[in-house]
Amino acid sequence: MAENYDVIIIGSGPGGYVAAVRASQLGLKTAIVEREHLGGICLNWGCIPTKALLRSAEVLDHASHAKDYGLVLEGKMSADVKAVVARSRGVSARLNGGVGFLMKKNKVDVIWGEAKITKPGEIVVGKSSKPVVEPQNPVPKNVKGEGTYNAKHIIIATGARPRALPGIEPDGKLIWTYFEAMKPAALPKSLIVMGSGAIGIEFASFYRSMGVDVTVVEVMPTIMPVEDVEVTAIARKQLEKRGMKILTSAKITKVEKAADSLTAHVETADGKVQQITADRMISAVGVQGNIENLGLEAVGVKTDRGCVVIDGYGKTNVAGIYAIGDVAGPPMLAHKAEHEGVVCVEKIAGLPNVHATDKGKVPGCTYCHPQVASVGLTEAKAKEAGRDIRVGRFSFAANGKAIALGEDQGLCKVIFDRKTGELLGAHMVGAEVTELIQGFVVAMNLETTEEELMHTIFPHPTVSETMKEAVLDAYGRVLNA
Ligand SMILES: Cc1cc2nc3c(=O)[nH]c(=O)nc-3n(C[C@H](O)[C@H](O)[C@H](O)COP(=O)(O)OP(=O)(O)OC[C@H]3O[C@@H](n4cnc5c(N)ncnc54)[C@H](O)[C@@H]3O)c2cc1C
Repeated sequence: MAENYDVIIIGSGPGGYVAAVRASQLGLKTAIVEREHLGGICLNWGCIPTKALLRSAEVLDHASHAKDYGLVLEGKMSADVKAVVARSRGVSARLNGGVGFLMKKNKVDVIWGEAKITKPGEIVVGKSSKPVVEPQNPVPKNVKGEGTYNAKHIIIATGARPRALPGIEPDGKLIWTYFEAMKPAALPKSLIVMGSGAIGIEFASFYRSMGVDVTVVEVMPTIMPVEDVEVTAIARKQLEKRGMKILTSAKITKVEKAADSLTAHVETADGKVQQITADRMISAVGVQGNIENLGLEAVGVKTDRGCVVIDGYGKTNVAGIYAIGDVAGPPMLAHKAEHEGVVCVEKIAGLPNVHATDKGKVPGCTYCHPQVASVGLTEAKAKEAGRDIRVGRFSFAANGKAIALGEDQGLCKVIFDRKTGELLGAHMVGAEVTELIQGFVVAMNLETTEEELMHTIFPHPTVSETMKEAVLDAYGRVLNA
């Protein structure tokens, strides 16, 4: 007889496993199905291992500039890429094990295999189509296996995979996706990065720090195209100063492969085509939802442009079937997935006052050097939306802590509604801004006004003081510039 659950979640990424923990906390009998690795892309191939790689890059960057800090480190600094990758994989493995522990602690059953929805309320778990990577991501102990399972509520949390451009498909050898880029056996001498979104620019930053000759090709007029143009202009300047080549309004139209290198044909806005030869290329042109082979068509779940269509609580058009995270559409970020998971499960459990996910308040962070972080509307988007705005800015060059850190190239920019004082957006580039942006996220969530922000005391000396000064600047009251 099929086992019955209140909730079955398909996929154990940050959306799925966090939803499972919350469902269990709410007294719902819960199971999670996973076919490859506990923790999903985020823990195994995304957020976490990239941050471990970028930390190695940061330490190397600092060590290489030791002289600027009055320190003498003898000899040329260099990276042992095998050890750098091993550290990154070790960090992932630790967290992957942590998800197994959380499932056990919260009495969530783990079912190992590939799930398909056969009808509302029923899934069949078959053999996984994905290899398990031993010993790093072993199949956890005491998992349930293939079979039919019933649940009142089924949550699809199957995530996303790399998108490929026709004719320039990744081959795993010369053209890499993030999987190959995450664990190079050796460093290429030269690298083309196609696409300058968060994933592309983070890898570009990492490989540049490792001494690789990096060229970024971006089809849009600016790098990190969803970010505020003023912020990305500063980031670009800094990345170029580090020796990165960046082409914007430029499109790779064709790639010719040789035995151990490739040549990209790059068309620029003026219609000219230039050829760039490099050892390897990373294709970072976005991701697409894992909606295939889940039985969605048979049960009638609506999809749009490769993602499941949901309301603000994760409900699909079919009763009892929900979706969260990357498979439910952009922004494709781990914290959005987690939040959607919690909202979805709390709604299922019938908690009062559950608020729909507000995608306008999802922060975005890019951990390149310099870091970029933002929340809310860019200046251009605010204007496009017809908002009457006030803009404030504060440069890191006037911030004592940033100067002491030796990281005085940065900006904090804030956008307020002129009439109401509502904080519409905040955009930062520079040291540690990915840790700082949360101050503005909290402010936005609490619907804080400019007055309240101006009367908040920020610790000195911190880079966070740029946040207060930017707010003061928007109202003509800046103190330190
Ligand atoms: C290189 C890189 C860096 C990133 N950095 C960041 C970052 O710094 N910050 C950030 O917020 N986001 C980052 N992301 C994005 C982040 O990884 C995703 O937004 C996040 O993983 C989405 O979580 P999810 O739960 O929706 O899906 P996923 O993490 O993709 O997990 C889905 C899981 O479902 C499983 N699955 C799929 N189909 C089935 C099936 N039929 N049966 C059983 N199991 C199935 C998969 O095996 C997978 O484990 C990064 C992504 C990449 C690629």
